[in-house]
Amino acid sequence: MNTVTSRTTRSTADWQRADAAHFLHPFTDFQSLARKGSRIITRADNIYLWDSEGHKILDAMSGLWCVNVGYGQQALIDAATRQLRELPFYNAFFQTATPPPIELAELLCEVTPPQFNHVFFTGSGSEGNDTVVRMVRRYWDVLGQPQRQVIISRKNAYHGSTMAGASLGGMAAMHAQGGLPIPGIVHIEQPYWYALGRSMSRDDFGRVAARWLEDKILEVGPDKVAAFIGEPVQGAGGVIIPPETYWPEIQRICDQYGILLVSDEVICGFGRTGHWFGCERFGVRPDLMTFAKGVTSGYIPLGGVMVGDRVATVMIEQGGEFEHGYTYSGHPTACAVGVANIRLIRELGLVQHVRDTAGPHLAKLFETLKDHPLVGDAETCGLMGALLLVKNKVTGELFPDEVGIGMVCRGHCFGNGLIMRAVGNRMIMAPPLVMTTAQIDEMGSLIRRCLDLTLEQARREGWMA
Ligand SMILES: *Cc1c(COP(=O)(O)O)cnc(C)c1O
Repeated sequence: MNTVTSRTTRSTADWQRADAAHFLHPFTDFQSLARKGSRIITRADNIYLWDSEGHKILDAMSGLWCVNVGYGQQALIDAATRQLRELPFYNAFFQTATPPPIELAELLCEVTPPQFNHVFFTGSGSEGNDTVVRMVRRYWDVLGQPQRQVIISRKNAYHGSTMAGASLGGMAAMHAQGGLPIPGIVHIEQPYWYALGRSMSRDDFGRVAARWLEDKILEVGPDKVAAFIGEPVQGAGGVIIPPETYWPEIQRICDQYGILLVSDEVICGFGRTGHWFGCERFGVRPDLMTFAKGVTSGYIPLGGVMVGDRVATVMIEQGGEFEHGYTYSGHPTACAVGVANIRLIRELGLVQHVRDTAGPHLAKLFETLKDHPLVGDAETCGLMGALLLVKNKVTGELFPDEVGIGMVCRGHCFGNGLIMRAVGNRMIMAPPLVMTTAQIDEMGSLIRRCLDLTLEQARREGWMA
């Protein structure tokens, strides 16, 4: 492993002490982390991170699904620096605007599907989904159908962590804390073939899973349903890639009942699937799209909602004042980075790179990993992938939850200079889109070594034969 001298004068132990004393981390058991101590990440370049001990780590999660252009891109650094010097902040509330959000809005309307000609900016993906809830309910109000309030989402979906975001999400553990979901949000089962549909072909299961939406619409009452929201590929839920038949059938059902279709593109947007947006990969025409993460490649926080013509026309021509907005809606520095990021994605041809080169190469790598005794299933979509770890690949038997096989494997990854994430028994990844085929091969060797170490441990501990 390469080592570098840390720029900081504080020792790792010192950082860990101060971290444990004062910093409450997101989605973390505070006490257990304080006991263990955080890993302190101090710098990054391209697809690699370095920690405070000088260890080099291949970041196969792009930070948190966001660093699409990789670390250290000078164009983004320059855009932020220039804007901070010129005008770090001014708001867009009181009939004013600054140039960066105007420029970014124009660019977003170029790279998104043709029905999108307007954007509402937020500070994050969660805020974007709060905006979605406010906007779809307002839309039906303005159209004289105020009873249309119900939004249908899916179990194991992730739509963020604010009250509305967590409610739209389908994470049972999140709902269990804080009295969620808020009223008017209901959930259907996810299109997870391996867990729910293995007795059928993938295509048959895709149609069955989509019709759960129709069942729910009929149960709630078609005149009460405002919208359906889904991630093209469920990210945080474990990179659940739906069968090809799923989304077209969802589109048909939304059309038939006239309900709005919302695509949460926070992960799938900006090239991740080999298309600009995940909805294009799966052939759907959403009315609204939430975005965040990849819009700035995570260099600075920014999110928003693309508002399709169907909704925008009503909101603009009949809606009057929309009583909603954030201090940082259209933050000039964040938007300047967004502009530089989209230009860079275009210049580097990253969407085509994922579609024609990196995505197929990752798919080939995952195909070869299927021969590993621990791997029960391996799937990719663009530069996203998941490996399902199983106890018995012939019967498909899973490890019991107590084993925590994913966390065991994740531990070996961390120890061997690779960041993958564990979601239950699924090992998932979403590496930076700039990744070369040679780097994918390098990652493949690391993955195989970590799977071997996990297998050795599973046998040693008697978890499998
Ligand atoms: C990360 C994520 C969000 C929430 O975005 P934040 O910026 O963390 O608020 C929403 N939807 C999806 C699909 C996400 O992956």
